[in-house]
Amino acid sequence: MKEITCKLLVIGAGPGGYVCAIRAGQLGVDTAIVEMAKPGGTCLNIGCIPSKAIIHAADDFAKTVAMAAGKNAMGIKADNPTIDLAKTMAWKDGITGRLTLGVAGLLKKAGVKIVVGRAKFRDGKTVAVETETGEQVIRAENIVIATGSAPVELPMLPFGGKVVSSTGALSLTEVPQRLAVVGAGYIGLELGLAFAKLGSKVTIVEALDRILPLYDTQLTQPVAKRLAALGVEVLLGTKVKGISSNGEALLAETGSGEERRIAADKILVTVGRKPVTEGWGREELELDMDGRFLKVDEQCRTSMRGIYAVGDVTGEPMLAHRAMVQGEMVAEIVSGKRRSWDKRAIPAVCFTDPEIVSVGMSPDEAKAAGREIKIGQFPFSANGRAMTLSAEEGFVRVVARADNHLVLGIQGVGAGISELSAAFSLAIEMGARLEDIAGTIHAHPTQSEAFAEAALKALGHALHV
Ligand code: FAD
Ligand code: NAD
Repeated sequence: MKEITCKLLVIGAGPGGYVCAIRAGQLGVDTAIVEMAKPGGTCLNIGCIPSKAIIHAADDFAKTVAMAAGKNAMGIKADNPTIDLAKTMAWKDGITGRLTLGVAGLLKKAGVKIVVGRAKFRDGKTVAVETETGEQVIRAENIVIATGSAPVELPMLPFGGKVVSSTGALSLTEVPQRLAVVGAGYIGLELGLAFAKLGSKVTIVEALDRILPLYDTQLTQPVAKRLAALGVEVLLGTKVKGISSNGEALLAETGSGEERRIAADKILVTVGRKPVTEGWGREELELDMDGRFLKVDEQCRTSMRGIYAVGDVTGEPMLAHRAMVQGEMVAEIVSGKRRSWDKRAIPAVCFTDPEIVSVGMSPDEAKAAGREIKIGQFPFSANGRAMTLSAEEGFVRVVARADNHLVLGIQGVGAGISELSAAFSLAIEMGARLEDIAGTIHAHPTQSEAFAEAALKALGHALHV
């Protein structure tokens, strides 16, 4: 049995864990990280990056198909486009491979010891790792739990055979002719739209009476319109019952009690993710829980001294950038810096078609918090750059306090709007007022001009609408 000691041990090399370890290494903290799969976690291997690669490929393919069908106002013609999904997946795997190798390289560069295997706590200061060459015991002054999350399985639709999770969908080598998707949240809509563009006949079953329940209907309406245009059937308020006895169809019951048989070659279940709180020896510790998540304070400390937790295992929103910022903060705390969670907002981006961004408070949230607000909304149909991109659907909306014009929230929906999320977040983080946004020169012609115009609109004098 081998034994090592270090000041900081990180369990899990997803965005939360690997960023924590890199930053700690940079700060000279003697750090080790344990990962049982590949560096990069869900995000780089089976989540954010591969899904965005497939979404991009599907977009390009759908554009070419539209050109071939003569539905292209720019006069571009194409002939009978086809897609070799196995090749697309190989291209996607190349990207994830480069990124995961890159993470391993960054960890090494920062002087972090990488241990490959499953980690299990023995006590609050000791972890045993099952490695390929036997057990490795690691003793550490501080331990960070960054074990992430896993897809939720439905009892009547266990994963296997034609029932796949996002991981299975992101490794298909043939486009399923008929795809049933359970859950119209982030993954269901991002991947459902992508497969519809790749040529699948997609049916989405959602238990609630709306898609993307996290966002207001003004923001999701353009996505609903696009789903309809792509021929995606969305069954709202519908319960899934299981698979038909011959395995051919997904069985569901609509809100009005109508039984539906949805013939499907693949069934993608995307009904949420659950924190990984088992399998690493939690039973050896006394950690307080916050519902199904590990309870942490504003410094990501758990209820046990010297044990921290970051990322999806600590709660919503389960987003990679939240995990990374928590990881960086914990590394700095362990190195002796005074840090605590001081962020005004965590941006949320949904990579649907069109994309949705939300930072800070929506109008409804601001009103519910008792704020008197001003709202400015500017449509992309009045933005020159959006016209040149054939992307006129959507808008930018700014929510500000009525009295001092402090910006409380910024939302938008539109093609490529994910890239504006940085400007939106910066405005909120820096405490911008409407006048600050309106007074910033936004380059012409860009979609970002819609942001300045939304602020001007809230001030009562938009120029281009
Ligand atoms: P994870 O990335 O889940 O990493 C945890 C790591 O811990 C894993 O590598 C696991 O192998 C390891 N581990 C667990 N237990 C042990 C153990 N006992 N010993 C050793 N290692 C262990 N978020 C976004 O912000 N933007 C997106 O566009 C986005 N798209 C997504 C698309 C999909 C399809 C999915 C599934 C998720 C997406 N997410 C997205 C969410 C994002 O992937 C997660 O929020 C993020 O990966 C969480 O990081 P983490 O470090 O907490 O955990
Ligand atoms: P989600 O929470 O976004 O959506 C799940 C959906 O499934 C909800 O609309 C819910 O009402 C529905 N649902 C739940 N049970 C159901 C049932 N029995 N039948 C029908 N519908 C049901 O979950 P997800 O799409 O699995 O994504 C998981 C998480 O991963 C997200 O919450 C997010 O944190 C992260 N993620 C983020 C991004 C991004 O940032 N762009 C992309 C993908 C995933």
